[in-house]
Amino acid sequence: MARTLRRIALVIALALAVAVVYAAGRIRSLHAETVSKDVSCIFGLGGNVGVLRTSEGAVVVDTMTFRMQGDRIRELAEELGGGPVQVVFNTHWHRDHTHGNPAFAPGTKIVATQRTLEHLRNRDAEYWTGPAAGTLPNETFTDEHELKLGGKTIRALHLGRGHTDGDMVVLFVEDRVLHAGDLFFNGLYPNIDLDSGGSVKEWGDTLDRVLALDFDRVIPGHGPVSDRAGLIAFQRFIRQLWQVGADAAAKGESLAQAQRTSALTADKGYGVMAIPFVMRLDRDFAIQRAWQEATGAVKPDGL
Ligand SMILES: [Zn+2]
Repeated sequence: MARTLRRIALVIALALAVAVVYAAGRIRSLHAETVSKDVSCIFGLGGNVGVLRTSEGAVVVDTMTFRMQGDRIRELAEELGGGPVQVVFNTHWHRDHTHGNPAFAPGTKIVATQRTLEHLRNRDAEYWTGPAAGTLPNETFTDEHELKLGGKTIRALHLGRGHTDGDMVVLFVEDRVLHAGDLFFNGLYPNIDLDSGGSVKEWGDTLDRVLALDFDRVIPGHGPVSDRAGLIAFQRFIRQLWQVGADAAAKGESLAQAQRTSALTADKGYGVMAIPFVMRLDRDFAIQRAWQEATGAVKPDGL
C-alpha cells in the first residue's frame, strides 16, 4: 500500500515537473517581426514589445508578464536593437506590460507616466518590493516626454483616458512607427480598466489625438502589427461600443438586455482573449464595461 502511494506520488511529481518545464518553455518562447528598418516587434504571452535600434543601443517598449520573459526580451532586444538596452518604456501599469522590468539592469532609464507609476505603487505594490523596486519607472511625465538617443527621436505622449487613465503611446519619429500600447487591441475585444480610470466614453477622442500624430505603422498592445486604417477601424468599434452603452442607459436597460443588442457590428471578426480564472475579454465583457460606465453602476448584475 505504502509502495503504491509512493509510486502515485512519484508519477504526480513527474507530471508536475513536465508541466512546469512545458509552461516555462511556453513563457520563454517569443518571436520577433520586423516593422520598419530599425523597429521590431516581439510577440509572446503578454503585451507586444517594441524594439528600436539606435547607434547607442536599444529602446524597449513594454516588458511582458514574467521575469523570465524579461530576460529573453533583453537578450533579443540587444540583438535587434544594436546593443545594450538604454531605455525602457512602460505604456501602462498592467502586469502583462511591466513584470519583465526586473530583468533589466538597475539604473536603466525606465519611463512611464506619473499616473502609471502611482498605479504600480498602489495597485500592484506586492510585486514591486525587494530588488524589483529598483526597476520601477524612474523618469515620469504627465503629458509629453521627448528623448533623443543614437540619432533617433522618441516621443512618449499621454493623450487622454481610454484603457486606463495613464496610458502612453510611443512614437519612433524617424521610423514613422507608433507603439499604441493597450489603447489599441487589434482584432481583439479590449480590456477597459474602469477601476484604473479607463473610459469607453473618452477612448474615441483620445484616439483622435493619437491619429493626429505622424506615423504609418502601428504596434498594438495586443494582436498583429497594423497601420492607420487598422487603428481607425478600432476607433469605430470603441465609438459604437460607447453608443451601445449610452443607448442602453438612456432606455433603462439591464446589462443582460444591453448584451443582447444587435447594434454592435464593428466587432466583426474580433477574437476573444482569455486568461483562465482571471478574465475573459469578449463581446459581453466589452458591453458590460460600456453599460457600467454609462449607467454609473458599480456592480452590474451577473457579477
Ligand atoms: Zn495588455
